[in-house]
Amino acid sequence: MTTIKTTCSACGDVELAADDLLLELTPLEATGRYSFDCPFCEINQFRPANERVVAILLAIGVSYIVGEEVVSEAEIEDFVESLDEWLENITAA
Ligand SMILES: [Zn+2]
Repeated sequence: MTTIKTTCSACGDVELAADDLLLELTPLEATGRYSFDCPFCEINQFRPANERVVAILLAIGVSYIVGEEVVSEAEIEDFVESLDEWLENITAA
């Protein structure tokens, strides 16, 4: 099985299997970050992934999600506001 060498901020070098990693892709870009639970201290770690790292991780079968930062906080606020308006319209009708 392919192993990936990465580093834990507390333990230093760690080796992980593809199954241990989760890649989080930045929408519209070929970059992102990946997360893993350190096998030694069990702390969840995040590491940035540039295009090369993303390509490698995908090639070895790391599962991925498309990042949660698709919408900005301002966009969420706008959405909530529009939802409130929509509710008001519904209840007023
Ligand atoms: Zn660690």
